[in-house]
Amino acid sequence: MGARLFGWGTESGDLSAAEAHALLDRVRPWLAVTEPVDPPTLSEVDLAPPRLAPAGPVSAWLRTDPLARATHTYGQGYRDLVRRLERRFAPAPDVVAVPPDENGVVATLEWADAHDAVVVPFGGGTSVVGGIEAPSDDPRPVVSLDLEGLHGVIEVDTASRVARCRAGTRGPDLEAALAPYGLTLRHFPQSFEFSTVGGWLATHAAGHYATGPTRIDDAVASLRAVTPRGILDTGRHPSWGAGPDVRALVLGSEGTLGVITETWLRVVARPTFHARAVARFADVEAGIAASRAIAQSGLRPANARLLDPVEAAVSGAGDGNEALLLLACESADHPVSGEMTRLRELAADHGAKLRDGVGRPDAPWRDAFVRAPYARDVLVRAGLLVETFETVTTWDRLDTLRHAVVDAAAAALAASGSPGGLVSWRLTHLYPDGAALYLTVLAPARARDRVGQIDEVRAGLLAVLADAAAPVTHHHAVGRVHQPAHTASSPALATALLVSAKAVLDPRGLLNPGVLVASSRPGHQPRDHVG
Ligand SMILES: Cc1cc2nc3c(=O)[nH]c(=O)nc-3n(C[C@H](O)[C@H](O)[C@H](O)COP(=O)(O)OP(=O)(O)OC[C@H]3O[C@@H](n4cnc5c(N)ncnc54)[C@H](O)[C@@H]3O)c2cc1C
Repeated sequence: MGARLFGWGTESGDLSAAEAHALLDRVRPWLAVTEPVDPPTLSEVDLAPPRLAPAGPVSAWLRTDPLARATHTYGQGYRDLVRRLERRFAPAPDVVAVPPDENGVVATLEWADAHDAVVVPFGGGTSVVGGIEAPSDDPRPVVSLDLEGLHGVIEVDTASRVARCRAGTRGPDLEAALAPYGLTLRHFPQSFEFSTVGGWLATHAAGHYATGPTRIDDAVASLRAVTPRGILDTGRHPSWGAGPDVRALVLGSEGTLGVITETWLRVVARPTFHARAVARFADVEAGIAASRAIAQSGLRPANARLLDPVEAAVSGAGDGNEALLLLACESADHPVSGEMTRLRELAADHGAKLRDGVGRPDAPWRDAFVRAPYARDVLVRAGLLVETFETVTTWDRLDTLRHAVVDAAAAALAASGSPGGLVSWRLTHLYPDGAALYLTVLAPARARDRVGQIDEVRAGLLAVLADAAAPVTHHHAVGRVHQPAHTASSPALATALLVSAKAVLDPRGLLNPGVLVASSRPGHQPRDHVG
């Protein structure tokens, strides 16, 4: 239940001591690293007494013990890792609720409301934007609502190829349940192993199918959510034409409108035909032009991801001189060699050299990608600032924005006390009209106030995004961290619509105040006034 006190995933996935040393040796020629500090132990965690005392039937699934509270305090952003390492657990929730079913979710919301507490839905706790953290500017006690008890695939409609899934189901368990039917969701965010179906819906998660239907939204046939005003069930439809689609309101609502308990997801047959290639570009601009040509070709490769030379070198996939375009096709229905031939031609038209290979020519990058969160834990413990930022823009604006964000990140690192860091980028998702631009920054952190430093770096980048009218996120969500910048750059009417939806579904501001919209208790009314 919850996350670890410190560290990604499970202990069995941690880098061994030898692997950690090898990683630090690889990094040392570029960046100064220190001896890794030890992760916190529970005895070092000092929590204020809980402000709520569980009572009544709900107490069967309410916990106030330090382990439950400490492991539900933070997500997995850099500032979360740093605060854990500094043994600062002040935002710990007062109570952790782990209801066994949807009725338990309803009862938990009622109990929290009766005690004038706020409720923070918790899926896998992999948020990197403060989405599962208690609000700092709300005096009410906090209940972290962990959806782990709502687990599993309930039903599969093989004729329609949709599966009814509970919100707390994690990626591998979902895939294991679909496998006997020969089906798969093919939704693979990097956090796949530890994030949940409900978390994906609540954040517009994007998987690593780099073109075509990659966002979880594309797979959602229906959803069901518990709101403070009752249950909202959208019904299951292949498409919707009868007015605005209410699913779209709940998708990406980040736990502010309701607690998603179930969804019917569109699934597909497991692919049996695969083809992969890596295209190398001496000229980065040519790599971008090839990516655009592929995105606009009508082909929908499962992977088409462009790594800049630094990113390729850091992952061990490149030599630091060339950009790499990773390509993959797959199908459950037909051979994909023809499609791959055409993709290779499009890359070659832009000067690519193609790396063939039996098996997986993209293996070095893929392996580094899967272990990256574990490696990041080691790097942060060794005194490095490691963070990612992402946005999305149109092809006509991509080049200007790319240069602006890379320059802004380097300048913000230097201004905050860390000159000479590494800034790399990749295009993670390609669309006919644009691409998602993903930035990684890596630098020796300043000695004092590491949280303040990442906030300064982020502010520098967000200013550039605002100037370019680019959103604060493509798939990492808004959370608490991006909320002020997101609201400042959103049309006032759009924010007003969201606030009014919240006023209808959550009139007393019970759910996740401060996420998506400001935490001044939008629409908050004393309990007596709610009809
Ligand atoms: C190493 C790493 C890699 C990542 N890679 C990707 C990636 O490739 N693609 C991507 O999209 N994201 C990625 N993320 C971000 C994160 O994994 C996603 O936002 C994910 O969808 C969160 O799922 P979760 O179950 O962990 O939700 P949580 O982190 O627990 O919650 C996220 C938000 O959703 C709300 N929420 C959770 N469950 C529910 C529910 N049932 N009902 C209502 N609200 C709910 C929470 O209150 C919170 O605001 C990554 C994060 C990390 C740390």
